[in-house]
Amino acid sequence: MPTHTDAPLLILKIGGSLFSDKSRPGSLDEKAFDALVRLVADLHQAHRGRLLLVTGGGAFGHGALRGLDPGDPFAPLPFVDATAGVRWRWVTRLTDRGVRALPLQLGAFSRVDPGDPTGIAACAEPLASLLAAGVLPVLSGDCLIRPDGALEAFSSDRTPEVLIRALGAARVVMLTDVPGLLTGGPGSDRVLGFVDALDPAPAYAHVWKESEWDVSGAMQGKLDALVACARQGADCFIMRGRPDAVDLRVLLTPPAEWPASTPRTRVALPSKE
Ligand code: ATP
Repeated sequence: MPTHTDAPLLILKIGGSLFSDKSRPGSLDEKAFDALVRLVADLHQAHRGRLLLVTGGGAFGHGALRGLDPGDPFAPLPFVDATAGVRWRWVTRLTDRGVRALPLQLGAFSRVDPGDPTGIAACAEPLASLLAAGVLPVLSGDCLIRPDGALEAFSSDRTPEVLIRALGAARVVMLTDVPGLLTGGPGSDRVLGFVDALDPAPAYAHVWKESEWDVSGAMQGKLDALVACARQGADCFIMRGRPDAVDLRVLLTPPAEWPASTPRTRVALPSKE
């Protein structure tokens, strides 16, 4: 079985907006989902043992975190169920395409650890064993246990932070419905090329507020998460996830070789600019 131990680990997060309308409960765009499954299958075949998939919850995950009782430490529990369903959809479709994929519950190998600089403790062993066997781990948002016994919901955007805490630095690509961090407001086509993870304030100034039904913080949540990943040494990108519009197989090649016609926002330590 071919493995590419010299290739970087690629954590690919696919935003829910690319295959689901978050404002419509249970919505799934079959055609868009199929194209994304094909992309992941191709990347896995070319990068076996070096790819981890993180799926956004779309309408499924978002509904589960609305209107929680702040007095109930286990209130986010339904999020565990909702995200399991989305992971399973990916796994069944990927299996149909001949990919060995396994859904993993983030909270089963990690926890909130206020004593750690990243705020997370995570065990590498389950992930490392799957990767060594050439299996594609399929992850999502989940609930992590806190030291006080309460559950804390980690969105899919925060999932790469946990994976990097476990496995070390990686390339993180977040595919979403915009080509990167836009600097001209909604609908603009000006993409910020680089965010310095040690000085991200100028980038935050471009973020606009999302609709009421979005509980993950949209672009703000992505920036928070990628800044945290980059501070752990990761090389992070926000890009549009339309496999029919751009050739996303470039994600396996060094970023310096990506065509200039593929817009993206890079979030990294200043040495990578
Ligand atoms: P998830 O599955 O985690 O919800 P997603 O890929 O579906 O992820 P959103 O959470 O909807 O993505 O975040 C992308 C949205 O962020 C964009 O559609 C846009 O409306 C919003 N946004 C806010 N500020 C900006 C900005 N400066 N540049 C680009 N998008 C921005």
